[in-house]
Amino acid sequence: MSKLFSPLLPAANPPAWLGVMGGGQLGRMFAQAAQSMGYQVAVLEPADSCPAGQVAQRLVNAGYSDAAGLDALAAQCLAVTTEFENVPADSLSRLAQSVFVAPDAHGVSVAQDRIAEKRFFVDCAPKSGVMPAPHKVIATLDDIDAIGDDLLPGILKTVRMGYDGKGQVRVKSRDDVRAAFDAMGQVTCLLEKMLPLAYEVSVLTARGADGEAVVYPIAENVHRDGILFTTTVPGPNVTAECATLAQQAAQAIVAELGYVGVLCIEFFVLEDGSLVVNEMAPRPHNSGHYTMDACVTSQFAQQVRAMARLPLGDVRQHSPAVMLNILGDVWFADASDHTREPAWNEVLALPGACLHLYGKDDPRRARKMGHLTFIAPTLAQAQRQLEAACVILGIPS
Ligand code: ATP
Ligand code: MG
Repeated sequence: MSKLFSPLLPAANPPAWLGVMGGGQLGRMFAQAAQSMGYQVAVLEPADSCPAGQVAQRLVNAGYSDAAGLDALAAQCLAVTTEFENVPADSLSRLAQSVFVAPDAHGVSVAQDRIAEKRFFVDCAPKSGVMPAPHKVIATLDDIDAIGDDLLPGILKTVRMGYDGKGQVRVKSRDDVRAAFDAMGQVTCLLEKMLPLAYEVSVLTARGADGEAVVYPIAENVHRDGILFTTTVPGPNVTAECATLAQQAAQAIVAELGYVGVLCIEFFVLEDGSLVVNEMAPRPHNSGHYTMDACVTSQFAQQVRAMARLPLGDVRQHSPAVMLNILGDVWFADASDHTREPAWNEVLALPGACLHLYGKDDPRRARKMGHLTFIAPTLAQAQRQLEAACVILGIPS
């Protein structure tokens, strides 16, 4: 049977092999979800020691653009996905010549380029009902002279490879923009107007090869130092109207992209209550980790279903949940370089604690080492346990 994709291609049932581009924690949790459904998992990753490689049945140790590695992955698997958005789109296209790839090169290439992403959001606005922040492409120093006053103060963001607040600088004046543009090596950037945020939400959605889409409950996110700190679902600030608008927008966006797989869309809610679309991640997302413990179908199991062309799973949330990212900082008791293992025994004694560690043996400050989700009959109870965990772990609340 040819593995080439056609609408008639049957589902990839277990124990088929599923492939994932990238060996980080998202690949690891994807592999674990796939394996729990009876699949075998192959990971393509250049690092020989990685979170996903520890659990996958096979690690294809190759660069993300390595033709032999890609061909080995395609030969073994019935479907391939990605765990990071900066996977070369050309690699996904190469894989797609011989194996079903979800998400495809198109969706990923839009999400990995802030200019293409903003253009897509603007074009999609008549259907989605939401616009991105006012912005301007900064490719040359001349572009900086032409910045309108309305875009300042703003945030200068590199067009590619930004994550966890890296590759972005807050700017107040044209001189600030020049300095930041120079500091970033004059790579093409996007200047975005700094908006008055009331809070931030994300919408996790998944679309199957048959066009059916599902949307998870809205998640409210708090960032610290540019890194996701907590995700709370249901979001304490989220109004029913905001949730409906964000969910409708997500449905329109995922359909317009013709996307297959899990997609997470980040939104800003402004002080006047209006909704602005920020960016999207073509994969399971940190703000969707709560689904592992609080929803019928986790975002990783959903990715497996979508790429295997199985029916999508129930997105129903059965418990209120709060997720806390665990950064390497909690291994450091003080300002010295000395590390010690956090008191997991105390954390796990808290009711509703679900601990996920990613198997990284080198704790570094600001590095994502794991996450902790509390589920409880009420959100207030889950939040109280999370506060207790922060005290145990020495995380300022
Ligand atoms: P991620 O970790 O989600 O990949 P990122 O580095 O790609 O992050 P953004 O999501 O664009 O970057 O921005 C990071 C954070 O900076 C946002 O979550 C928000 O708190 C703040 N931010 C970004 N753009 C704006 C804006 N236009 N106005 C106000 N705050 C903003
Ligand atoms: Mg973001």
